[in-house]
Amino acid sequence: MLPLPTNITLSKRAIRWMKKWQDAITKKTTYKEQIEEADRTWGKSNKTFDEIKSKLRQMSNKTKRCNYCEDSFADEIEHIYPKNIYPEKTFIWENYLYACGPCNGPKSDKFALINLLGKLQDITPPKPIPDNHIFVKPPNLQVALIDPRVENPTNFIELDIIQTFRFIPMTGIEGINKLRAEYTIDILRLNEREYLVQARENAFDDYKARLVEYIQERDNGAKRAKLEKMKKRIQQKNHASVWFEMKRSHQYVQELKMLFDQAPEALNW
Ligand SMILES: [Zn+2]
Repeated sequence: MLPLPTNITLSKRAIRWMKKWQDAITKKTTYKEQIEEADRTWGKSNKTFDEIKSKLRQMSNKTKRCNYCEDSFADEIEHIYPKNIYPEKTFIWENYLYACGPCNGPKSDKFALINLLGKLQDITPPKPIPDNHIFVKPPNLQVALIDPRVENPTNFIELDIIQTFRFIPMTGIEGINKLRAEYTIDILRLNEREYLVQARENAFDDYKARLVEYIQERDNGAKRAKLEKMKKRIQQKNHASVWFEMKRSHQYVQELKMLFDQAPEALNW
């Protein structure tokens, strides 16, 4: 999982609509009513959502890849903070990303905080919600999930591109940061799904092959437009974390060092 761009903003018109809907939720007196209103107003399809979807697509490498698994086609607006726990974030632009069904479905409204003892505190609502359920606002504690809209997941998580192609907490991080990394990998099932692990390994080979091809074309005097196109194909490929990790660790992996020594410009792609 990579950090998402922070420079993509909504139009004034969309911001006005979002505020209107959000206000309708926030002005409800009780927390329970806010959750119900969030549920009721969410998903009203209109022009604002066309814009939101198009902006989320821009954020997803323009190829509509899921921001969590980087593998599947994503067409579901995911609330990073679930709207039935945080109704005050239902119509907040910074709470959205594009996720695929296989990521969004199982994650659903699973959510946890880190309590004052440094342990996970699960605040996932029960399903179905019993009639006598008491709705209580979550305490104001550090959330466990790493939020790629405001944080840089690559400071917490690294991808093992040498052997396992699984995500692991960054070497050297400890305590709450490590716990958050483990929780995020776990709740998004980034290692659990074998097809993702295999796809990352395939992407690794594919990135290397494309880079070799680029170096050959460049050395044979290919036109700038052609080289630009090859660069773009690398930048828009799925499993962008693999490419990120190849760049990050190239000094320590002989075959990558050789490739990037020949094409140091690719370190900026
Ligand atoms: Zn996904």
